[in-house]
Amino acid sequence: MKPVSEAVHVVLPLPLDQPYTYLVPDDLRSEVAVGCRVLVPFGPRRLTGLVVASAPPEAQAGYTLKPLLDVLDEEPAFTDEMLRLTRWIADYYVCGWGEVIKAALPSGTDVESRYLVRRTDRRPDGQPVPPKARAVLSHLERHGETPLGTLRQQGLGMALLRRLERDGLIHLEARLRRPRVRVKREKHVRFAPAFRSKGAAGDLRVQLRGTRQVAVVETLAGFMLEGIPEPRLADVLDRAAAAAPTVHRLVEKGILELVEREVLRTPLGDLPAPDGPPQVHTLHLAQQTALDHIRAAVEAGRFEAFLLHGVTGSGKTEVYIAALKAVLARGRTGIILVPEIALTPQTVQRFRVHFGDRIAVLHSRMSLGERYDAWRHLRRGRFDVVIGPRSAVLAPLSNLGLVVVDEEHEPSYKQFDPAPRYHARDVAVMRAHLNDAVCVLGSATPSLESYTNARRGKYTLLPMPVRVPVPGHDAAPLPRIDVVDLVLERKKHRLEGALSEALCTAVERRLERREQVILLQNRRGYAPVIECHGCGWSPMCPDCSVTLTYHKDKRLLRCHYCGRTRKLPPACPRCHEPDLSQLGTGTQRVEEELAARFPQARILRMDFDTTGHKNAHHRLLDRFGRGEADILLGTQMVAKGLDFGRVTLVGVINADTGMLLPDFRAEERTFQLLTQVAGRAGRAGLRGEVILQTRNPGHPVLRYALTHDYAGFAEAVLPDRQVLGYPPFTRIVGIVFRGPDAAAVEAYARQWTAVLRGHADGLTILGPEPAFIGRVKRHYRYHTILKIPRNRPAADTRLLLRRTLAEAPAPPRGGHLAIDIDPVGLF
Ligand code: ADP
Ligand code: ZN
Ligand code: ZN
Repeated sequence: MKPVSEAVHVVLPLPLDQPYTYLVPDDLRSEVAVGCRVLVPFGPRRLTGLVVASAPPEAQAGYTLKPLLDVLDEEPAFTDEMLRLTRWIADYYVCGWGEVIKAALPSGTDVESRYLVRRTDRRPDGQPVPPKARAVLSHLERHGETPLGTLRQQGLGMALLRRLERDGLIHLEARLRRPRVRVKREKHVRFAPAFRSKGAAGDLRVQLRGTRQVAVVETLAGFMLEGIPEPRLADVLDRAAAAAPTVHRLVEKGILELVEREVLRTPLGDLPAPDGPPQVHTLHLAQQTALDHIRAAVEAGRFEAFLLHGVTGSGKTEVYIAALKAVLARGRTGIILVPEIALTPQTVQRFRVHFGDRIAVLHSRMSLGERYDAWRHLRRGRFDVVIGPRSAVLAPLSNLGLVVVDEEHEPSYKQFDPAPRYHARDVAVMRAHLNDAVCVLGSATPSLESYTNARRGKYTLLPMPVRVPVPGHDAAPLPRIDVVDLVLERKKHRLEGALSEALCTAVERRLERREQVILLQNRRGYAPVIECHGCGWSPMCPDCSVTLTYHKDKRLLRCHYCGRTRKLPPACPRCHEPDLSQLGTGTQRVEEELAARFPQARILRMDFDTTGHKNAHHRLLDRFGRGEADILLGTQMVAKGLDFGRVTLVGVINADTGMLLPDFRAEERTFQLLTQVAGRAGRAGLRGEVILQTRNPGHPVLRYALTHDYAGFAEAVLPDRQVLGYPPFTRIVGIVFRGPDAAAVEAYARQWTAVLRGHADGLTILGPEPAFIGRVKRHYRYHTILKIPRNRPAADTRLLLRRTLAEAPAPPRGGHLAIDIDPVGLF
């Protein structure tokens, strides 16, 4: 523990850049250390903050500092490394250090005060009471003491309350609220020391009264024989068919003792432990080569980032496992990041088979208590490995040796709301760097950013171009992909609904052979994009290479990056089809069509609507994995990381929909999605087949997807990115403005962007423009896009944005500003 001087710098969980300085009272001096959480006064409130440093004496000069109120941790919650990592995140993503610290601590553990509002005895003087004030007073008279938050939700603001307080009509009080989660303890029972030896048995008999006491003692002796000297009280009572008073009497006699033990609440409780020894594969050549490279860095104890570019089914997970073993063997620890959607029992079990209960699992469906326990046990070193989604990159492991980011191209690694808006992949690389550890980014379809980093030598490229060989074959072939031209089918009057003849025939064959089918019905996104029914043409912005969106009210096409508008042409310029209407085939309609066509088939539909409940998504996948359905129909959820041996057909209902999103990454996402979903076919020796239905069979993205040609795809797309100034050739900052009043948000966005322009000499700034998703939850949204040349130091960007934040006006009432560094997907 680092001792501290008379004063300390404390970071509070607020969007503030700077720490505050507090005095350490003498009686707390020995308890405070850097990295501990402390309770501090902040205005009239009390907040939980984190001690980030000892304050030098000059920091105290000229101020009267307030003292800390309490220390909340016996041992520092944060190591030095986590302090440095969180500081870096705050700097790079331009947010408050305290916001990052808060994201890295288990939620619900803060001690915090909140305001309670109470009516006083005083009656309003003769003056008429304005309606809002009357609302406050009558609420308090009806409900008594009320939290400030409740009044705020009714639109009754602090200024009004302060006025009423001044008039003596109400009383505002800050009161400490207890943390929402606490350590859970359970009673265990054991023999008192005098009765633990064998010889004590005779003594015991004499003292026992009644069959119940005998039963309890015998049960406890039985547990001891099983090697459990301190079983849970509940288990003993259960087995002995006794009640608590029996045990209490034995405790009074000095025969038994009760002890309290911390309980580890874990989500693994309901998962059966994998049985049998782990299946150890002999790695194939590409796996071995990749592993050798990783192991060399691990053994040298140096930082190195790898891009493991392995086609679907090439055995990436086996490489992660082998690398992790090498790291653990050196006494270091590891973090495995997987997209939330891939965090299925299937994935977890694969790691548990090898690492047993050295693994902690984190996921978004855990209770606060489970999270808190996992965090504490990780901090204490009880686990060496953590597997989890994006936030697991902030897990409190010491002596970190490896961070794996599986499916590193997944947009879900980027956090948006609330801040910090970090990208877990980039944080993973940084964290590995701070620890002289190794970072392995794995994907069959790397993001163009990572691919470019590998080509520039920043990451080491580890290619695994073939699938794991199946016994008796050289290598399981990648699935065969066929294209169905929907335009042609419709012309020949062979297509009524969404399913072509070719696709139906293929499905039928699978049903006969009792194999399984995955059908992808990609969502068409949020923005109204025009697509010609005849030929699939859709209008693009020539400057931004994104699709234009259609605004019905003005009958205009608009680019949401640069604001360029044009009229909707009366007919398709390519095929002269007159009706340029919107298209859309929802998953439900496809489901109906399937059911009508294949009445005997068991169909599971997986989309946003069927996966609303906790666990619903995993339950659906489990059922499909157990063979309880023939066809799994869904949105992109079905494309991710699933490994079902009996799936031999993957159908894509409309391969073009993803391409129509107004996003410069639309083609990259489509290529990734098609390649990933195709990779679900034919994994266990059964040859896979993929059918892509499209209106644009000649589109380059499809061509490269057909031949599984990632490199060709990258070569085709990267030059456009360069010409148009997009990542990986620039860095992008998205600034999102939102608020309930359209005009006010627009004005605010304009003012803010003008201040930014004033400081951003030479940088490209687009906007402000209405966002694609123009209105969310009754808030209007505008955005501004800032493009920054790659070679500019990140510190310049930070200064530019901090300066703009300081000088630009505050958001209008109810409004909000979000700065998103390296955004992914739609704003
Ligand atoms: P990826 O993560 O690249 O899609 P996986 O690691 O899931 O690939 O491997 C695909 C399948 O091949 C899994 O069932 C895995 O157990 C198996 N496998 C991986 N490596 C080997 C190997 N060297 N020998 C035999 N089977 C392997
Ligand atoms: Zn057309
Ligand atoms: Zn444009």
